Amino acid sequence: MARTSHLAKPATALVLETLQKQRAAMSAYALLDALRAHGINSPPIIYRALAQLESEGQVHKVHALGSYVACAHAHQHHAHALSLLSVCVDCKTVEEVQDGAIVQHIEQLRGLGMQLAEQATVELPVRCAACLATH
Ligand SMILES: [Zn+2]
Ligand SMILES: [Zn+2]
Repeated sequence: MARTSHLAKPATALVLETLQKQRAAMSAYALLDALRAHGINSPPIIYRALAQLESEGQVHKVHALGSYVACAHAHQHHAHALSLLSVCVDCKTVEEVQDGAIVQHIEQLRGLGMQLAEQATVELPVRCAACLATH
């Protein structure tokens, strides 16, 4: 019989902690590498954890990079329907833009007779301050 792995913590908690510590976007495979020491050794575990965290709004997928970042607002304990992520086209650093006014404006499309149908992520291609300083 196959040895069952005993995780001290659920995979979702480990994945979220790792992303929060990194302060950078990580791919599912980078997460898998980082968590092997914790007994996580198959990609489906990582993908399931990421899907759950994403549906809870604790993690956002960065489509431009095929990677994930921890939500910068997670400590506020409310899932926001829209996240604005700036993605540096040079160094690939991802920041969650904390402009409540823009987010609220887009979340409330009522002025245009619409409303946001599902959780959405808007990615802004930028050059970050550090990259601009070296150009
Ligand atoms: Zn967020
Ligand atoms: Zn940059």
